[in-house]
Amino acid sequence: MALKMEDIVSLCKRRGFVFQSSEIYGGFASCWDYGPLGVELKRNVKDAWWQSVVRERDDMVGLDSSILMHPKIWEASGHVATFSDPLVDCKKCNARFRADHVDVSAPCPNCGAKDSFTEPRNFNLMFKTSVGPVDKEDGSNIAYLRPETAQGIFVNFLNAQNTSRKKLPFGIAQIGKAFRNEITPGNFTFRTREFEQMEIEYFCRAEDAPRLHQEWIQARYEWYLSLGMKKENLSLRPHEKDELAHYAQSEASTGTTDIEYQFPFMSEPAELEGIANRADFDLSQHAKFSGQKIAYFDPERNEHIVPYVIEPSAGADRATLAFLVDAYHEEEVKPGDMRTVLKFHPKLAPIKVAVLPLAKNKPPIVEVAKRVKAQLAKKTMAQYDDTAAIGKLYRRQDEIGTPFCITVDFDTVEKDNAVTVRDRDTMLQERVALDQVEKYVLDKLDV
Ligand code: ATP
Repeated sequence: MALKMEDIVSLCKRRGFVFQSSEIYGGFASCWDYGPLGVELKRNVKDAWWQSVVRERDDMVGLDSSILMHPKIWEASGHVATFSDPLVDCKKCNARFRADHVDVSAPCPNCGAKDSFTEPRNFNLMFKTSVGPVDKEDGSNIAYLRPETAQGIFVNFLNAQNTSRKKLPFGIAQIGKAFRNEITPGNFTFRTREFEQMEIEYFCRAEDAPRLHQEWIQARYEWYLSLGMKKENLSLRPHEKDELAHYAQSEASTGTTDIEYQFPFMSEPAELEGIANRADFDLSQHAKFSGQKIAYFDPERNEHIVPYVIEPSAGADRATLAFLVDAYHEEEVKPGDMRTVLKFHPKLAPIKVAVLPLAKNKPPIVEVAKRVKAQLAKKTMAQYDDTAAIGKLYRRQDEIGTPFCITVDFDTVEKDNAVTVRDRDTMLQERVALDQVEKYVLDKLDV
């Protein structure tokens, strides 16, 4: 049976991955909080991304720019003028839709009324705020919560390049919150008004941009596969001409390709990441609006150029949701006995190893278990749990995707100085000497 979104939402709440925000006040529309396991999972997703696009490459550096920035940035980027969605209201039930998401000539999907939609109006998606204690009537203290992290990178292009002395082609990566006043948020954490992006701006010569665009599409696609995402659920989709963002519409751009994931609860594959060729649009715009010269000096050719940019732009929340859904399995262990198991790649698993005492009222067993846990915790994410019987503890760890469980039992302390290591996926158990168990588990995790 196809996995329903309710199953995921309920598992996330039950096990502490994701909670509804402001729950004790009745919730706050489309806002979600990451719980004790969710924060680990999402951090692992972000760390895996950072590792692959910054630390393992010589041509990339990182950045962490502020959320509030000079408002002119959003004029230069085109967001003030064009970052809007067409909005229609149903005159009968007041439900609100994106005009490009409904058939405006058909009945309202909410109340069934016919010919009930207003004319589409453009609705800017940026959240406004005011800076300083007094709202100024002329609007001169208006600022925006950034709707993407990308512009923080463009405006730091010279700073980052000068200080890191990188030569073209090179890129800047950033992870951070972005805010969009979405008209129709939904599908759990897939579309929210506050979310985290993982963005790269990769600067290059114009003539290299088409090739590098293709290389980044491939590299980013393979990143998802390398973390265990199933190939049959992933696809690449080049944008049609009429859906390209303003910066990708010029002749100079080679367009945008999305990496999409087929969520079981959506009718079509949906975007996890877009990889765009933005040409020299952003740097040129910021040069124009700031009055500064923004160019790269090529000492070999003795010329100044405005680089082109390839932008792989991913969502940390969407990727996390996709990894979670992809890892979800319900299995019949033996006739009539089902288990839910999250088969996370070890790099993503929130808890890598759980240490379980077979009897919590036997001090020698507890003592060994706590020692093993403390030793492992220095190297990896380990958890000690003695709150239920062993069978139940295994199921709980399966359900949160812990790759290995170590059980300390009577034999450990009375006979063999060894423990049982259980593999999440095969459920096979092996006896491993106590002084070998750390190495054994860390080697198998390989993270
Ligand atoms: P969509 O078409 O789904 O609205 P987009 O094309 O506007 O997305 P981009 O501007 O390309 O999205 O943003 C880059 C990435 O940021 C997206 O691929 C997605 O992973 C993430 N993202 C964008 N909007 C949201 C949102 N409202 N909630 C969660 N993640 C988002």
